[in-house]
Amino acid sequence: MEGIAIRLQGLWKSFGQTPAVGGVDLEIRDGEFFSLLGPSGSGKTTLLRLIAGFETPDQGRIELAGQEVTGLAPYERDVHTVFQDYALFPHMTVEQNVAYGLRVRKVPKAERLARARQALAEVRLEGYGRRRPDRLSGGQRQRVALARALVGRPRVLLLDEPLGALDLKLRQQMQVELKALQREVGITFVLVTHDQEEALTMSDRIAVVDRGRIAQAGTPAEIYERPATAFVASFVGVSNLLDGETAHRIAGSPGTYSIRPEKIRVLTESAGPEEPEHATATGTVAEVVYLGDATRFVVDLDGGGRLTALQQNLETSSAEVAAYRGTRVRLRWHRRHAVRLPS
Ligand code: ATP
Repeated sequence: MEGIAIRLQGLWKSFGQTPAVGGVDLEIRDGEFFSLLGPSGSGKTTLLRLIAGFETPDQGRIELAGQEVTGLAPYERDVHTVFQDYALFPHMTVEQNVAYGLRVRKVPKAERLARARQALAEVRLEGYGRRRPDRLSGGQRQRVALARALVGRPRVLLLDEPLGALDLKLRQQMQVELKALQREVGITFVLVTHDQEEALTMSDRIAVVDRGRIAQAGTPAEIYERPATAFVASFVGVSNLLDGETAHRIAGSPGTYSIRPEKIRVLTESAGPEEPEHATATGTVAEVVYLGDATRFVVDLDGGGRLTALQQNLETSSAEVAAYRGTRVRLRWHRRHAVRLPS
């Protein structure tokens, strides 16, 4: 069994009246790429700062690799934090920036240089050692910050929205590279992000943070396919909630349900269920959006309620798609894709 890199037990932290972190229990495994995902103000950064030691909890316990570190200063913990603004020293070269932590720890010069060069190679910045940070692009600065974090080989790397300052294309490219880098070095990464796609793309596991608590922790597939709460269902993907009344009318089941749009097929009104496990509902297409690879249908259900369905565009053109607006359709899904949520 894999070891536990980080264990949080009964963690609380308040700055004023309402707790920023309100009773968090969490285990992050060795070598895992783990994301803390949640909206602005949900407490992700506070959680990260508690792990790093920049904040002290009001209550609870923090362990790193089985050792309690709750009261220890940041430098006494085997972790390194990468901030969104990179915090590079402008007057130092790239190499000096990367080697800085080793210099502070009095590592001999030759070894410092060798390790800085290796770290720069790991982030694919060979040959940039002599440059100053102001002569680098945003993506390159981000890599220098990573190299500086990796050079000391911490047990855990904490990353607070590290890609937030990059434009979309570069961010998507860095997501793939960061994940590959993590796999290569085998260090536990804990990433703070409000971007659900980023979390789904990069993580081995995700904790969804809702108002200072962990709403759900699991693999991207578990979080997406089996959301534990209505908040998780709506924050990660399109929730497509069926309230109690609608669910009862359609499927005869009590409770609130969430169905992901790509699980719903859009058919002609006369089509029926093909298997006993299918549920169907008729309605009118309120909106139809051609997305290139897929088409999004928003359907007003007969008797109330609204569902979004996403269909792959196999042979459809945008002109054909537009003709669906206002037409009558039948929606069909497999009952197992309707996830019951706690009310
Ligand atoms: P964001 O993505 O906007 O950074 P977040 O999920 O990281 O949000 P936190 O920064 O942890 O959330 O903030 C959680 C709550 O705690 C917020 O209400 C915030 O205003 C408050 N808070 C955080 N740090 C402090 C502080 N040093 N002093 C006072 N309040 C704080």
